[in-house]
Amino acid sequence: MIARLPRLLVLGTGGTIAGSAQSATGGSYAAGELRLDQLLNDLSGLGLEAELVAKPIAQIGSQDMGWDVWDVLHREILAALNDSQMDGILVTHGTDTAEETAYLLDLTLPADKPVVLVGAMRPAGAVGADGMRNFANAVRVASDPDACGRGPLLVMGDAVFAAKDVRKAATSNIDAFKGYPRGPIARVTPSTLDWFGGATRVGEPARYGWPETPPRVAILTAGAGMDAKPVEALLGIGCKGIVLAGMGQGNAPGCVLDALSEAVKSGVPVVRSARVDEGLVDRNVEVDDDRYGFVAGRALGPAKARVLLMVLIANGITDATAIQAAFDRG
Ligand code: GLU
Repeated sequence: MIARLPRLLVLGTGGTIAGSAQSATGGSYAAGELRLDQLLNDLSGLGLEAELVAKPIAQIGSQDMGWDVWDVLHREILAALNDSQMDGILVTHGTDTAEETAYLLDLTLPADKPVVLVGAMRPAGAVGADGMRNFANAVRVASDPDACGRGPLLVMGDAVFAAKDVRKAATSNIDAFKGYPRGPIARVTPSTLDWFGGATRVGEPARYGWPETPPRVAILTAGAGMDAKPVEALLGIGCKGIVLAGMGQGNAPGCVLDALSEAVKSGVPVVRSARVDEGLVDRNVEVDDDRYGFVAGRALGPAKARVLLMVLIANGITDATAIQAAFDRG
């Protein structure tokens, strides 16, 4: 039981939650323009029951998120996890790649304290802006001891998602995020929080080491009538792994599958995922994974499959059977 107000570290990275609209009704705005202290100042009138400690680490649209910012984020969160004065961590983040950051942290951090990513679909100043509400909701989640042991969470649109389930499924709707195969694991408002099940990862250490030298892993989207040249091009630029965003259940033209099989033979792991929004990609359904040497991506969409494959390769896990085991676990 925390006697004082929960103390939360707020790591600012930018995104629409830190974006300013050119007009309340226009469509255009600049992501990441608002400084974190200004954002927290705007929030100070909401009467949030938490002490917020601001630390800006970037001011970017999350399309520019990558290993330089991820390195800092990982280091700062680890320090906060080890700081007995800090009860939880909030990360303000653009929505485009929030699922990748959340899942990368999920794979590489212990599940000790709440780590909550939050963003917005509409910039401050736009009519119906959602940033303040999402942030108030995120504070509520990060302040709740029951948020521990669930891995990093994403709070958007009054819903709480687990990192491995969440994906951005719409370009501009306020309820742009969906969970697959699980939907939200909790519902939240600034005054209520209802979890739909207990935490299963209490005390779990980090699953994988932090990638010190992240390997180049590419996503290859399959399209009707394509040939195998893109596979050759990816191998030509030194890709260490390939994620296929395949048609249907991870399909691709035969010539592409053959070229990918050659990649596997040359030591480049290939994971089949789907360009379709939802559904599992299972082994040996239409594609003979055993024969080709492929890994089936299961519930992970291409963006998160790429993150997992990068982490696995960086940890020296390149054998198809071991990679498949990791994807089966998700
Ligand atoms: N593309 C920007 C980003 O991901 C803005 C989108 C957003 O935050 O909703 O940061």
